[in-house]
Formats: sequence, C-alpha cells, structure tokens
Amino acid sequence: MTAFWHHHHLRRALAREPRLERFERRDSLAPTVRRALKTAAYRDCDHRCVYCGWDMPYTDATLDHVQPIARGGRSQPGNLVVACGPCNRLKADQHPQDFFSRWPSAGENFIRYARAVNRTLKRTARRAVSLAWAAAEAA
Ligand SMILES: [Zn+2]
Repeated sequence: MTAFWHHHHLRRALAREPRLERFERRDSLAPTVRRALKTAAYRDCDHRCVYCGWDMPYTDATLDHVQPIARGGRSQPGNLVVACGPCNRLKADQHPQDFFSRWPSAGENFIRYARAVNRTLKRTARRAVSLAWAAAEAA
C-alpha cells in the first residue's frame, strides 16, 4: 500500500464523518496554561469535585468546562471548575442545565463549591435544581 493511497483513503474516511459542530471538541491549551488554570480552579473550588463534593487530592482533580467546549464554552476562569474523573466523564458534553436536571444533588454541590464561576452558570444551576426537585415532588 503506498503512502498516497493510504492518505487518500484516510481523507475519504474523514470526509464521511459527520461534520463537527462549529466548535472544537477539545481545548488546545498549552500544558503550562492548563496547569495554571487547574491550580486556580482547584483553589477556587475549595479542593472539591464541584459535582460530588469529594475533597480530592490535586492529582485526582480534572479541569472541567462547565459549558462544554463542544457547545461553545470558553477556557476562561468563569467557566472552569475541577471535578473528579468519574463526575467529569458522567457530565461529558451535556449542557449544564441538562446535567443538573438529571443530577440535582450535583447541582447543589456545584452551587456550594463552584465559587468563581459566572453568575449565569450559578443561576442556571439554581433553576435546574429547583425545577428538578419540584418535578420529583409532583411525581
Ligand atoms: Zn466527583
């Protein structure tokens, strides 16, 4: 198999992939920038996973975009928190309001520990949590 053939074939395979949305799937932060943002988020979140409340060691913390990058979220302090690996994977690329509607206790922890996030994100969490509890009571 020639390199050309392989390259050509790969390009065709990629062309058949559904087009990515307007936004990048993953951030392209330089490692030093990423570490600085994680350190700041870890401090701002009181060393907690903002979704399950675990007081976690730094090495277990992962940087999480509250509004996912795939949905237009930015790599800025107001959109960044730390979360443990399992919570980060559970949340994945969900909109925060969808995630907090499904997991209102995660929303309550978020309201408590994500102290440095944008006010709009906190408002989103408060609304999703109260609607979720109201729906649970009505059921
Ligand atoms: Zn967690």
